[in-house]
Amino acid sequence: MTISKVSNTLLLEPGMEDMYKCVHCGLCLSACPTYLTTGREMESPRGRIALMKAVKESRIEPSSRVISHWESCLQCRGCETACPSGVPFGFLMEQTKAELIYPQKTSLKQRFLHFSVFKLLFPALPLLYVLGTLVKFYQKSGLQRILRSRIVTKVAPSSLVVLENQLPAIKGNFFSASTKIYPTKEKKQGTVGLLSGCVMPLFQGPIMEATVRVLNRNGFDVVSPPGQGCCGALNVHAGERERASKMAINNIEVFLKANVDKILTVSAGCGSTMKEYQNLLDKSSSISSEDVSTFVSMTQDITEFLVSIPLSVPKTALSMKVTYQDSCHLAHAQKITKAPREILQSIPGIELVELKDSLICCGAAGTYQIVQKDLSTKLLSKKMATIIETKADAVVTANPGCIIQIENGIKQNDLNSPVYHIVELLDLAYSTESKI
Ligand code: SF4
Ligand code: SF4
Repeated sequence: MTISKVSNTLLLEPGMEDMYKCVHCGLCLSACPTYLTTGREMESPRGRIALMKAVKESRIEPSSRVISHWESCLQCRGCETACPSGVPFGFLMEQTKAELIYPQKTSLKQRFLHFSVFKLLFPALPLLYVLGTLVKFYQKSGLQRILRSRIVTKVAPSSLVVLENQLPAIKGNFFSASTKIYPTKEKKQGTVGLLSGCVMPLFQGPIMEATVRVLNRNGFDVVSPPGQGCCGALNVHAGERERASKMAINNIEVFLKANVDKILTVSAGCGSTMKEYQNLLDKSSSISSEDVSTFVSMTQDITEFLVSIPLSVPKTALSMKVTYQDSCHLAHAQKITKAPREILQSIPGIELVELKDSLICCGAAGTYQIVQKDLSTKLLSKKMATIIETKADAVVTANPGCIIQIENGIKQNDLNSPVYHIVELLDLAYSTESKI
């Protein structure tokens, strides 16, 4: 890769001096999935920070080798949880990507990919729905079965076969933001706004529908206001902050006009980005800092919200042994680990078996499964070994990417265990009760 001279002025931006909080103690090493997998210091949080400092101090150039060490970071923020010095690694990595990695995507192929994914597809939901419809047709029409046949996979390029195999199955109907109000039939406790987002309503519509039913069952009217869009998480993580800030402004405007008590997400990755919108927007943004603060203070993950209300306990038992994988952006970015466990333990008949290393990333991490395939596969293998050890009937998590990744692992290991979003399990318990 040819290295173009890039500016490192952003490494002088407010907040970036936090890299000097790192005292090289190494307490984060055992929390870092990439370090645990490769054993390379430069693929640890401490090593990556050392590289940031070296570039900032002009001791080294951000060469392709240096960049590869940063690019292998999952941005899981496990190191933040472990760090006693309070190094905000997620923020440092996002800024580094924006300033030093994103501008280096100079080849035509890289530019095209970035333009299509981050500027065209995610910001424009109608286009994403068209793509979702085509994928659904491909999967339901039998075309996928034909293309997955031995004859075709023998002649097709192996990279394409691998990529196709990773395509998650579209389940049920698409969910979409609309003017529709989903009213509760119980004594009304309030109205909540639900983020529909981008990929989740297409690939995991039933989870969105289950969320609506669970909220209704607990006395809340639900709206998912039209005009909202993708939260911008994938753009932020890829260093494409300009478009991400536009997405943030749009969502803030839409939800603040929706007249809701809370703004809820069922995707940990979206929630963590939305709770950090203030990092994306500054005084020059076309939105007031008061509006940003209001939006942030109203935003909650579904698990966080459900434990803050008098949660209706299902009346029937599910009789199931489950294990729970912490989603990185729920556990490390939002510091929510107790709420999902409390919810699981509130469902009669559920036996929760703790998963060894549940705070270590499963290798999903947005587009990581595609762009860092080898490392992602190694992380998934480790995760599956611990899941199998639990002998659980089902795996539960709280993030769409983790669900897709673990479902892939289940498939690769010829297992039949379902993978649930936590609200699906609660919804299942409520629906069983209505049948008695
Ligand atoms: S734990 Fe924190 S201070 Fe210690 S090496 Fe890791 S990032 Fe640096
Ligand atoms: S964000 Fe995750 S992968 Fe990256 S350095 Fe921190 S712990 Fe390691």
